[in-house]
Amino acid sequence: MEVLVKSTIMPCPLLVSSMLERGANLFSDVAIISIRPDGFRHSYTYRDLRRRSRQLAAALQRAGIAQGDRVATLMWNEHEHLEAYFGVPSVGAVLHTLNLRLHPDDLAYIVNHAQDRFLIVDDVLLEVFEQIRPRVQFERVFVVDHGCGALPAGCESYDAFLAESIVEPSDADLAEDDAAAMCYTSGTTGRPKGVLYSHRAIALHSLAISLPDQLNLSCHDTLLPIVPMFHVNAWGLPYAATMNGSKQVLPGRNLRSKTLLDLLQNERVTVAGGVPSIWLAVLHALETDPSRWNLTQGLRLLVGGSAAPESMFRRFDKLGVHVIQAWGMTETTPVATACKLTPYMHGWTEDDRYAQRAKHGLPLPFIEARAVDDQGETHKDGKTAGELQVRGPWIAGSYYGLDQADKWTADGWFRTGDVATIDTEGFVKIVDRLKDLIKSGGEWISSVDLENALVAHQAVKEAAVIAVAHPKWQERPLAVIVLKDGSDVDASELRAFLGERFGRWQLPDAFVFVSELPHTSTGKLLKSQLRQDFNDWRWERS
Ligand code: AMP
Repeated sequence: MEVLVKSTIMPCPLLVSSMLERGANLFSDVAIISIRPDGFRHSYTYRDLRRRSRQLAAALQRAGIAQGDRVATLMWNEHEHLEAYFGVPSVGAVLHTLNLRLHPDDLAYIVNHAQDRFLIVDDVLLEVFEQIRPRVQFERVFVVDHGCGALPAGCESYDAFLAESIVEPSDADLAEDDAAAMCYTSGTTGRPKGVLYSHRAIALHSLAISLPDQLNLSCHDTLLPIVPMFHVNAWGLPYAATMNGSKQVLPGRNLRSKTLLDLLQNERVTVAGGVPSIWLAVLHALETDPSRWNLTQGLRLLVGGSAAPESMFRRFDKLGVHVIQAWGMTETTPVATACKLTPYMHGWTEDDRYAQRAKHGLPLPFIEARAVDDQGETHKDGKTAGELQVRGPWIAGSYYGLDQADKWTADGWFRTGDVATIDTEGFVKIVDRLKDLIKSGGEWISSVDLENALVAHQAVKEAAVIAVAHPKWQERPLAVIVLKDGSDVDASELRAFLGERFGRWQLPDAFVFVSELPHTSTGKLLKSQLRQDFNDWRWERS
C-alpha cells in the first residue's frame, strides 16, 4: 500500500536545459537571427545555439565555475546572450543579467552584492564596464567581439574562451529549486534588490505564458523580443521561444522605430514584445507613412512595463495589428497577468471591449491575485482599489541576501506596491504605484488614468501627472507635458479635453510644458525626480 502511494509520477526536475534540448532536438534548423551593432544580419540555428551553449558550459566548468556561482552579462539582445541564458544555468551557475542603463553606482553595488565571479560583455558596452571597473572585482572578463578594436588589458575573447573547450560539459546534479538566473529591481527608491529565479519557476513560467489564452507562443511564431534580455529575462520570452522552437529575431542595440518596422516586415515577425514608449514611437512612424511597411497579417504586439493607453489599442487595430497587455515585475519572473477577452466579452460594445483590453487581465494559471484596501478588505467590484498582492510558483519568496519581510504578508502573499482594482470577471487593472497616487481632500486620484487620457490628445507626446502638496487639499495633481514636434496646445484646451472624461475635482490644477521627461533605466517615468523638481511649486502661480 505504502509503495502505491509513493509511486506516482517520475521525479523529473523542471530544468532550463530541458527547454534548450527540446528546441535543438525538434527544431534544429529553425533560425535565430541577431542584428549586430553595425546592422549586419547574423543567422544561425537551434543546433548552433545548443553547440555553443554547451561549449560555454564546458569552458565555465574548466575555468572553475561551480554550482551556485554567479556569472554576469552586460549585453544587448544577441545570440551570445541567449547562449549564456542556457549555458550558465546548465552547469548549476546563476546567470546574472546586468541592466546596462543603470547608473554606475547602482551597477557596481549590484555586482558586488551578487558577488559575480565572471563577466561576459559586448565590446560596444566596454565603456559601461570601464565606468565600474575600479569598483568591482571580476575574476575574468570575456568580451564579445563586434569589431570595436583591440581587447582591453585584463580582458579575454569570448570566442577564444568557447574554442578552448573541446570536451562536453559534465552533468551537473541539479534540482529544480536551484537558482538558474537573477535580476535586480531597477526601483526608483532605495537600493536595487536581487531576485533569484529557480529552474522550476522559469520552466513553469515558460509553459504558462505560451498558453493560447495568455501570450499564445508556438513553433509557428517568429518572435522579436525588443524588451531587453538584461531586464527581467526579456519577460521570459527567449526561454519560452526556445522551448517552443519559434524563430527568434534578436534586435541588438538599434531600437529606432523605423529599424524595428523594417525588422518586423523583413523577418515576417508574428509576435513582438516591448514597453509602451517603443510601441507609441512605432505607431507614430506607421501612421505617418502607412503604405511603407507590409507587416505580417495578425501581428501581435505584447506590451508591458508601464500602462498602455487605451488609444494605443484602437489605433493599432486600425492598422491590423493586435496589442496584448501583460503585467508583471522583477519579483514575478516577470509575467503574472495577461489580458485577453473571454468569449462572451466579444458581444460587448466596442467601448466596453477596449476598456477591458486596456486592463491587465487575468492571473496566469497557478497565480493568484487580490487587491487589499486600507482596511484589509478585498474587493471584486472593478471600482474599489487596493494594493495588488500575488502568490504562486514563480513569485519571489524573498530577496537575495536581504531581509525585507515587510514585502510579504503574514499569510504569504507578495505585496507588489501597485494599486489595482479587480472586476467581477476577475480582470486586474493597475491604477497606480502606491506612492504615485494623488490624495486630494481624502479622495484618491489615479495619475495613470490622467496620463493615459492626456496622451490620447493629438498634440501630446508624453505626459506625467504627479501629486504636489496643497495647503487646502493635502495634494493636488500637476501635469507635466511634452508636446509633439510642431504641435501647440494650451492648458485650458487640455483641461477641457480631460473634462470630457473626468470629474472637475480630478483635473490637474496646473499644466507645465517641458521639452522632455525624466525616465528610469527601463523607460518608465521617473516620478520621484519630477516630485523633487516640483517640490517648491506654489499653487498661486498656476
Ligand atoms: P520592474 O520590476 O522594473 O519590471 O517594474 C515592475 C513595475 O512596472 C510594476 O510593479 C508596475 O508598477 C509596472 N508595470 C509593469 N507592467 C505594467 C503594465 N502593463 N501596466 C502598468 N504598469 C506596469
